[in-house]
Order: sequence, then C-alpha cells, then structure tokens
Amino acid sequence: MPIPGHIDPVPVPRPITEREDGRIDILGLPKKQIASLFEDAGLDKKQAKLRAKQVYHWIYHRGVSDFEAMTDIAKTMRPWLAERFVIARPEIVEAQHSSDGTRKWLLRTADKHDYEMVFIPDADRGTLCVSSQVGCTLNCRFCHTGTMRLVRNLTPGEIVGQVMLARDALGEWPKGRMDELGDESESDYTADGRLLTNIVMMGMGEPLYNFDNVRDALGIVMDGDGLALSKRRITLSTSGVVPMMERCGQEIGVNLAVSLHAVSKEVRDEIVPINRKYGLEELLQACADYPGASNARRITFEYVMLREKNDSDEDAHELVRLLKKYKLPAKVNLIPFNPWPGAAYECSTPERIRAFSDIVFEGGISAPVRTPRGRDIDAACGQLKTAAEKKSRAELDRIAAEKQAQLEAE
Ligand code: SAH
Ligand code: SF4
Repeated sequence: MPIPGHIDPVPVPRPITEREDGRIDILGLPKKQIASLFEDAGLDKKQAKLRAKQVYHWIYHRGVSDFEAMTDIAKTMRPWLAERFVIARPEIVEAQHSSDGTRKWLLRTADKHDYEMVFIPDADRGTLCVSSQVGCTLNCRFCHTGTMRLVRNLTPGEIVGQVMLARDALGEWPKGRMDELGDESESDYTADGRLLTNIVMMGMGEPLYNFDNVRDALGIVMDGDGLALSKRRITLSTSGVVPMMERCGQEIGVNLAVSLHAVSKEVRDEIVPINRKYGLEELLQACADYPGASNARRITFEYVMLREKNDSDEDAHELVRLLKKYKLPAKVNLIPFNPWPGAAYECSTPERIRAFSDIVFEGGISAPVRTPRGRDIDAACGQLKTAAEKKSRAELDRIAAEKQAQLEAE
C-alpha cells in the first residue's frame, strides 16, 4: 500500500479560481493584493490603495458583495469595478437543517468542485466547521471524507467564503449604510450577541496540507479590518502533519487540535495512516513545542471511540501516561464514532466511553465526551462527503492496490 500523504495534493499554488466571465474574484485577497489588482486595471497607485481600503471594509465589515452598494465610492467608479471584479460567494447547491439545529451546506467552487460546511449552534456559542480541501488525501480508516478520490486545495477566497456565507445565512452583518453610521464603535464587531462565535478548521481536508491558503484565509478572518474574530475562538485540527505544526503556531497562531485517536504505533498506523510517516513520539514532541500552547491555551487531543479497537482501559491509561510524559497542556475530546455506509468500525458502547473518560479524568486530564451533532443530515465529524465523489472503501483499496502494482512494475 502506498503511504498516504507522501504526495502533496496540489503542488502548484492556486490563489484565485478563474471564472467563466473573466472577472477576478477579490474575496479572500489581502488588501495589498486588491490594491495592486486595481492598479493593474488602470488606477493610479494612490487611488488604488484608497479604493482597496474602502472595498475591503465593505466586504468584511458590512458583508457587501455589490459594488453599487458602496456609497463612499464615486458613482462612476462602481460600474468600472463591477466590470472587472467580483466579490463572490461559494455557490450553494444544497442547504440542510438537522433536527438538533445543526445546519449543513453543500457548496460549489467556480470551477465546479463540491465541498461542505457545517454550523453547530449551542447555548453559549455557535461554531462554524470550515473545510480546507475538496476531499482529503489522507484516508483515515474511520473517516468518510478520506474515501473521496478527488482532492483539490481550496483557495483563501473559498475558505473565507464559507464564513461570509454563514454570516449571510445567519443575518449577521451590521445593518445600515456606512456613511450614515458615523463613528463606528469597536463593539459593533465583537463576537458579542452573534450566533457565529467560533470557527473550527475541522471540515473536509487536512488544513496543514493547504498551509498557505489556510493561513491567508484565517489572516483575513482574524484581521481587525477583516472579520475581526479573535484567534482564541479559532481552532485548527490536524491529523499530525508534524513538519508544519511549528509554522502553524508561529504564522497562524490559532488553537491546535490533534487527531490522536490511538496510543500505539500499531493501531495508529492502521487508523490514521499518516502515522507511518510521522510517528507518535514525533507528533507528541511537536505538540510539546507548539508555539503559544500553555495551561491557559491547551491543545485538544481528539480521540474517536472505536469499539474494541482503541477503547480499552489500558488505552486510556496509556493516553494519560503519554500526555504526562510530554508534559502537554492537554484536554482530550472523546468523539463517539459517527457511522457511514461501508465503514469498517463500530462506535464503542456508551459504558465503555464513560469508563474511558473516567480514567482520563482521574489522571488529571479533562476528557469530555462530545455529543454527536447533525448525524441525521450526515453533518457530524467524519461524515462529510460530497455525493458526486462517493467511492466505497473496497473500491478505494482496489485503486490503491492497482497504483502500487503499477509502481512496482515500473
Ligand atoms: N483533517 C483534520 C480535520 C478534519 S476531521 C483532522 O483529521 O484532524 C475533524 C475530526 O473528526 C478529526 O479528529 C477526525 O479524526 C474526526 N473524525 C473523522 N471521521 C470521524 C467519524 N466517522 N466519527 C467521529 N469522528 C471522526
Ligand atoms: Fe482527512 Fe481528517 Fe478525514 Fe483523516 S480524519 S481522512 S485527515 S479529513
């Protein structure tokens, strides 16, 4: 079997997806890049910089996607901008509502790739689960997304676009026209009173395999002139792309979650195959070195509960031992396995999950059991997969074996 993760999904950068109408989508671009595009289109340097600043403000503080609504930009300039540029949103193919309030959107890029985002409302917060790739190269055995064959990195615009769409759908843009508001108070832009308060990079894909685009997208989400969400409210989950973890802490600076899921080489090699490339010790050391982690900002270790695979008392004790050995400021999130058609595993029993949780708690580490959300619309962890690309695990294994045989023959 080839080792997943040996080939990076898209070796070429893909900053902007081309559109059929030839206009350039400026969503997700930094202010400077917007200015230089305006300059390339014919504005002088000073004008370009000023217009970029105004447009950026309308996009992220007002949620405006129509140049005509930008009232502080000269009337004649607005159609000029609209002919050349666009502030797009991902196309919504389908929107679903779970009985527990969770919402899932099937989205489509301008070049017709489908991906998903999920919104999970809670009493005290609302979390948007954002995708970083179409599909995932990493084939974790318990994850539906991992069975998708087609993979492409999402652009910063397609990543930020998810947050913009969620704000559109939740009606969370300030009302009124900017020129009527006078001085804007900071409080207009805090999370207070909003439904969407947190972002987790836990949708489709491995965010650290699309590092630059995820960094640039989250840069806009955290930028005070952008969506102005605090880095403390953003969590990035990785399956363990060790070489990118330090840069993640330094250049993105958000909370880290790690998909640990097993405490022995044997089991982790099987269920999280990237472990064959970056082993447990290396991964835990990278966590210990993660910039910004502290007792106040703990690293979350995700642990999917798979019946008779990783859920014994011994596993729980070993988990505590490992987290202590590396002196990790850790919390553990126990995730009941969410089933999908053709999955090779079953969820642990509730009693087993409780016993496992108790052992970790007794070891002095918080280990709550996550309540599955949105299962009825396949919106729960690991259930995301777009219909057009469904392939069974057997089919995937066959394709992988064929590829391997081909490689060996060469
Ligand atoms: N690719 C990243 C982030 C997306 S997955 C990562 O792997 O960390 C978000 C979380 O859901 C991960 O911890 C993932 O391992 C977990 N997950 C995947 N499939 C699941 C399933 N069927 N049931 C429960 N959790 C699952
Ligand atoms: Fe990819 Fe994460 Fe699913 Fe693994 S768990 S296949 S890394 S999305």
